[in-house]
Amino acid sequence: MRATPPRLRPVRSVIVAIAAAASLALTGCTIPSGSDAAADTTPTSANPAESPTTPTAPPTPTPTAEEPLIGKTIYVDAGHGGPVGDAMYEQVPDGRGGTVQCQTEGAATLSGLTEQAFTWQTMQLLAADLKRLGAVVITSRGNDADSGDCVDQRIAAANQAGADAFVSIHADAGPEFGYGFFVNYPSAATGEPAEAQSAELALSIRDAMTAVDLTPSTYAGEEGLLARDDVAELGLAQVPAVLVQLANMGNSIEGALLADPAVRKGYSKALATGIVDFLTRPPEPAD
Ligand code: ZN
Repeated sequence: MRATPPRLRPVRSVIVAIAAAASLALTGCTIPSGSDAAADTTPTSANPAESPTTPTAPPTPTPTAEEPLIGKTIYVDAGHGGPVGDAMYEQVPDGRGGTVQCQTEGAATLSGLTEQAFTWQTMQLLAADLKRLGAVVITSRGNDADSGDCVDQRIAAANQAGADAFVSIHADAGPEFGYGFFVNYPSAATGEPAEAQSAELALSIRDAMTAVDLTPSTYAGEEGLLARDDVAELGLAQVPAVLVQLANMGNSIEGALLADPAVRKGYSKALATGIVDFLTRPPEPAD
């Protein structure tokens, strides 16, 4: 168990040769039309500590150095959940005039670690980190078997709660040759403030991840960032929202790293750092 965040550099040296020989393909995302999700119809909170469905205002609204997120509410979505049967195929709005599937099963590594398990474990770490930093945290499911709501309902809950940030955790089913993370944010469409804020949140998380030597994706997005118009949780967001593909489960080497608790902890710390940076930065000066 390492105390330091995961470093994928050793992996990179192994994979670079493979990547160099392969063509760049921007596909393989786990989230093609509406795939990504996990859910239930009722906002369950099997773990009461994990998901206060109706967050109450904290008694002390003043952030401190130790708890910079006091007064902030953050929705953390573990991208995929337990089986939901046919309801999985229900079409829900994507916020851009189309529809997507209620949710999808998610990816898996070659050694059998499912995205469901990985996102559940990472979500718990991140939720704990954010609470320690003073935030009220809402999560998409209360236990690993729970499927959670359809993707549109998850962001609806975050909108309704007036969340200060919505972060959906995933790991991609990308091509074998590719590796690294990328942060998805809503493409510009409405001009609503949440769109620009989502891009800022994506940038903060990207920077926090590269600061601990996590590698931006070699096959998707640009420098770890990707604007999307086909993800319901982003298209319907009225609050700053991102969907983070932390790694590529389709790559055997990077996929194997995800079973290491220290690696998941490193991802969580980097996500928390990016969220804090985004929520505590001074406002941009007006033009
Ligand atoms: Zn996913």
